[in-house]
Amino acid sequence: KIRVRYAPSPTGHLHIGNARTALFNYLFARHNGGTMVLRIEDTDTKRNIEGGTQSQIDNLHWLGIDWDEGPDVGGDYGPYRQSERRDIYDRYIKQLLDEGKAYESYMTEDELAAQREAQKAAGQTPRYEDEYAGMSADEKAQAIADAKAKGLKPVIRFRVPKDHTYAWDDIVKGKISFDSDDVGGDWVIQKRDGMPTYNFAVVIDDHLMEITHVLRGDDHIANTPKQLMIYEAFGWQAPEFGHMTLIINTETGKKLSKRDESVLQFIEQYRELGYLPDAMFNFITLLGWSPVGENELFTRKQLIKQFDPTRLSRSPAKFDAKKLEWVNNQYVKKTNPSTLLGLSIRNWQDAERLPKEKIDRKTLEWLRAIVGLFQDQMSFTQQIVKLSEIFFIEPPALTDQAKVELSDPLALPVLQEFQKRIQELPQFTAYAIQNMIYDISKDTGARGRKLYMPIRIATTRETHGPQLAESIEILGIDKVNKHLNLTLQ
Ligand code: GLU
Repeated sequence: KIRVRYAPSPTGHLHIGNARTALFNYLFARHNGGTMVLRIEDTDTKRNIEGGTQSQIDNLHWLGIDWDEGPDVGGDYGPYRQSERRDIYDRYIKQLLDEGKAYESYMTEDELAAQREAQKAAGQTPRYEDEYAGMSADEKAQAIADAKAKGLKPVIRFRVPKDHTYAWDDIVKGKISFDSDDVGGDWVIQKRDGMPTYNFAVVIDDHLMEITHVLRGDDHIANTPKQLMIYEAFGWQAPEFGHMTLIINTETGKKLSKRDESVLQFIEQYRELGYLPDAMFNFITLLGWSPVGENELFTRKQLIKQFDPTRLSRSPAKFDAKKLEWVNNQYVKKTNPSTLLGLSIRNWQDAERLPKEKIDRKTLEWLRAIVGLFQDQMSFTQQIVKLSEIFFIEPPALTDQAKVELSDPLALPVLQEFQKRIQELPQFTAYAIQNMIYDISKDTGARGRKLYMPIRIATTRETHGPQLAESIEILGIDKVNKHLNLTLQ
């Protein structure tokens, strides 16, 4: 039975790259009727942020990813927070110490740094050299006793087997192998504060939680040989590994890094802008995975049905912000207006320039009409703030282009007719307004652009915008009169 896990470190909010890892594991589990585990890797206490775990959980849920076992839902393989598993790690560390596969190392940080500097100066790649090399058993015991007497705390290092190759057949990348000599010497499995290191704890957990497949970012490839050493030391079978390619920002052509400010990278940020979770789910799935065929829009169900990890791409995934907007717009167009209204109201409320009394329960139907006006045009609801400004605040000055349009000889007669007739309309509805515009066309002989442009400019003060008659209805007669007077004066 397939068991996979997503194992975030709560050192920050949910990043696009991590969301992708979570999502592919989720799809793989659900496709195979397997189990999805959420495990919190919080042993690097200095880097954890306040609320980091909850933020990860909230954003995963927002995306529509759930799990069968985890710190919040329990399960038979817990605890699911590494910080609560220390006694488990200690037991296995002790076993390795007893078997001579690990040892206490008392070199101080200063000594280690000096060793690295000396190696660099000699043109060598820095690595840890066994501090007890060449010592007799007595000398070694003495060195340890001295260090203890000085009150030094040890780290525990894993004794890396010599001349050994660690290889695996990666689900994404194919055959990969490392020489044991290339991992930088005997590496630390337990830190001075007693916490296990990532490369050690991850193996203990993946083994005890019976994880069958590890899908993660390819920044972990260099960690895999270390992890394989631990599996070997305990005589355990390693899971299958699949390392997903990095994500490239198409804007810069560079690897998407958290410092890159040209693109939003945290799920939270998209959420605040009113992106839709279904669309984000769809878009993220296409980062480094492709379905059979040309279609790019899929429901969650379809994605679960189609997901096949052998179609994970070997070449870097392209993060294209324009495509993200396109995908979102496809979803916005199909979304139920009430959902969009709820999101838009939040965005309107956050917008400082808008008068808050217009965003109120009393104006709900009016707001709903505005959302309807812009629905097809939006990629995310925050865009409505700018798009709908004319309905909320004082009209802008006319642009030069608008003035040119108004200098057309037909513009004035059209607007005079419009001003006269709109006062007499029995019903101020888009339907009645549209019919009135047809009548003005007949009477003045203006058609097409010569008819609509002056009316659009005089009522909305813009040269382009959504459906005109609807916009006029939503503006209301008072605003329309005000804008007309302003334009005709
Ligand atoms: N905590 C690790 C990370 O966030 C997990 C790596 C893994 O999946 O093994 O990168």
